[in-house]
Amino acid sequence: MTAAVHTRSSADLISAEEPVLAHNYHPLPVVVAHAEGTWVEDVEGRRYLDMLAGYSALNFGHRHPALIEAAHRQLDRLTLTSRAFHNDRLAEFAQRLAQLTGLDMVLPMNTGAEAVESAIKVARKWAYEVKGVPADRATIVVAAENFHGRTTTIVSFSTDETARTGFGPFTPGFRIVPYNDLAALEAAVDDTTAAVLLEPIQGEAGVVIPDEGYLTGVRELTRRKGCLFIADEIQSGLGRTGRTLAVEHESVVPDMLLLGKALGGGIVPVSAVVARRDVLGVLRPGEHGSTFGGNPLAAAVGMAVVELLETGEFQRRATELGVVLRDGLSELVGKGVLGFRARGLWAGVDIDPVFGTGREISERLMREGVLVKDTHGSTIRLAPPLTITGDELRGALGVLEKVLTRD
Ligand SMILES: *Cc1c(COP(=O)(O)O)cnc(C)c1O
Repeated sequence: MTAAVHTRSSADLISAEEPVLAHNYHPLPVVVAHAEGTWVEDVEGRRYLDMLAGYSALNFGHRHPALIEAAHRQLDRLTLTSRAFHNDRLAEFAQRLAQLTGLDMVLPMNTGAEAVESAIKVARKWAYEVKGVPADRATIVVAAENFHGRTTTIVSFSTDETARTGFGPFTPGFRIVPYNDLAALEAAVDDTTAAVLLEPIQGEAGVVIPDEGYLTGVRELTRRKGCLFIADEIQSGLGRTGRTLAVEHESVVPDMLLLGKALGGGIVPVSAVVARRDVLGVLRPGEHGSTFGGNPLAAAVGMAVVELLETGEFQRRATELGVVLRDGLSELVGKGVLGFRARGLWAGVDIDPVFGTGREISERLMREGVLVKDTHGSTIRLAPPLTITGDELRGALGVLEKVLTRD
């Protein structure tokens, strides 16, 4: 990695943001200028191990050579057509993505929230045209503590008051049930229900993993009641948990699958709704779209991501290194760690609040060269690039141990 050459300091750049940048984030005080693989470097040339990986948008690390090469090649040829015309990259990307996920059809979009919005529209249309729900009566059942994005409709069914307050009036048509509770779900689903929309593992909530059998139960229930099961795998999917999809841990195939984040290889925003033909087939020309969705640059990068996942290497790494992560965290339980939830290379770690808030722990880790993100209270989230080595991972766990023993 080349040394950063900057005339402005981190402190200077951070204070320059304050008057001109909307304050909708509270970033850690690190200003990144370069990155490669698992490591980022700030403007002063300090190096940090990236244990967040862009909330899983960087599953393959920063600037993975195969992804950068695919992007460069495409940049030199064709970048955007809009869907008014065909482009020569989209068909193969859609075909290979459908094949990778075991479904039939792809609706390409850009951001995760757009994929969620698109799935809501498709589910409603499916409910009216296929299921026969009376006009404007369709409902969608979601889980408490969900995170599906930031649009007005999506925050309408959030249970996070910070995400909702001040943004009403809200979109009707959603029912919220407790996560990991099949009886509550059964009670909420009725003849108006178009779909059940869930994260197979709740990421923002703190990597909350449902009981074994829950996803199988949701699949059985939705099939029996005649509604769709939409799995939001925008964060859990594409290798993170040791499988291509988190639903594979229970051999469940949803009716609609939402992908994003890592699908863009850390380079461009790429998201997709992937579904069976009888579901996505309800959309006809003009009824939905996106100017940038399915652009050739996105398709080229997305295709390179699919090719990396087809090798199985990253799923295998997540499984094997997941054992290192789990073992390392187990040793910290009772030594500053109250408990943790982990699957593959993904963990929510509850720190004893006597050591500080999640934010304070994150700042201490940052000063020791490890970047993480806090979620609620004293919980931090670990989601390193799937390219991380065993030594790097053990190093990060060692830093966590150090931060938790110093006080
Ligand atoms: C990040 C995320 C989204 C939203 O994706 P954006 O690209 O930020 O709009 C939706 N669902 C889940 C599960 C996510 O983690």
